[in-house]
Amino acid sequence: MPARRSPWMDQDLDDFRDLARTFCEKEIKPNVDTFIANKQVDRDLWNKAGDQGLLCLSIPEEYGGGGGTFAHEAILIEEQARTGDSSWGASLHNGIVAHYILAYGTEEQKHAWLPKMASGEVVGAIAMTEPGTGSDLQSVKTKAIREGDEYVVNGSKTFITNGAQADVVIVVAKTNPEEAASGISLIIVPCDAPGFSRGRVLDKIGMKGQDTSELFFEDVRVPVTNLLGTEEGQGFIQLMMQLPQERLIVAVSNVAAMELILDETMRYVHDREAFGRPIWGFQNTKFKMAEVATEARVARSFVDECIGLHLEGQLDIPTVAMAKLWCSERAQKVADICLQLHGGYGYMNEYPIARAWADLRVSQIYAGTSEIMKEIIARSLPAPV
Ligand SMILES: Cc1cc2nc3c(=O)[nH]c(=O)nc-3n(C[C@H](O)[C@H](O)[C@H](O)COP(=O)(O)OP(=O)(O)OC[C@H]3O[C@@H](n4cnc5c(N)ncnc54)[C@H](O)[C@@H]3O)c2cc1C
Repeated sequence: MPARRSPWMDQDLDDFRDLARTFCEKEIKPNVDTFIANKQVDRDLWNKAGDQGLLCLSIPEEYGGGGGTFAHEAILIEEQARTGDSSWGASLHNGIVAHYILAYGTEEQKHAWLPKMASGEVVGAIAMTEPGTGSDLQSVKTKAIREGDEYVVNGSKTFITNGAQADVVIVVAKTNPEEAASGISLIIVPCDAPGFSRGRVLDKIGMKGQDTSELFFEDVRVPVTNLLGTEEGQGFIQLMMQLPQERLIVAVSNVAAMELILDETMRYVHDREAFGRPIWGFQNTKFKMAEVATEARVARSFVDECIGLHLEGQLDIPTVAMAKLWCSERAQKVADICLQLHGGYGYMNEYPIARAWADLRVSQIYAGTSEIMKEIIARSLPAPV
């Protein structure tokens, strides 16, 4: 199948892809086993990426960023996925945390955090999920209660990407616990604040090199100027506005994973022999590979359309929910078929397909579960006239 160039690519982006690919091949691919053994990437990976201009790609240059667009973010996500790595939480740092600060932060907040996030001096995380609530964000129990010129933050969060290495966390908390959505605010908490602590890096079935962690807040005091934005009670709306980009990031990584799996499996079925011929020689293999190639191509077309829409500021919430739902579920199906074609080796962690199969499962859960995506899509369907 000829290599296909996405319609949103151009010559400058081709050059940027070369830079991103070289970095991922040199700094990530050879170290994936180490990241997994340590349950986190080497901390200096962030600084190396910052030196290469690979952090805060779509943040304006005046805040230390690359001055690029979501296309740059998508390319780095694709190139990281091409190495088979799921450890480095760059897409969350770049495409999510930095964008909350850019979209809602005051000038002081942007200048305080974004240049350091762009250099790799500061790693970012966002803490929405709690032990007692995930999908139902209105029910978070973490509180940030104003006392004079400070907020006092109390509560606990779990499943937080970049949790062990984060230097700053955007915390979803109730500034008015009497209210549901309208009581929620986003508070910037530096991780050296007294009362902040980290729990263990969680033991997951996949993404084993990602430092997904528990975080605890015990009378953590931050200045009121750490409220993200200038008005309390805006947190839920701020989350709803940013979740589309988060969901597109998941869909982009899913498509790139499908393409990697396809390539790896084509190689494997041509090399491996059974009954005196390559596995490729069985009609079943050809049919299965035709099926997964079609899944990958359809998903790629849809995601390319979504990236194009997002670059024009036209990507709506139900469409990106469809992309996340479709790509995450199809990527799992593709991984499952390709694992089967690897036989017993597909079950061995040293084979990329085994890791991909386990890594991909969470895509149907985080950034909003498949069921929540269906709720969003269903709500958007027009009533019959
Ligand atoms: C590896 C990993 C990384 C993560 N990273 C982060 C992070 O960086 N920051 C962060 O804040 N969170 C993070 N999460 C948390 C993730 O976003 C939540 O796990 C997810 O939103 C689901 O919430 P929950 O686990 O509480 O499940 P629940 O909300 O308890 O859902 C349980 C089941 O009920 C279903 N359900 C819930 N509500 C409905 C409904 N209305 N209709 C139908 N079905 C429903 C769900 O779809 C699911 O199947 C991460 C999770 C993982 C596993």
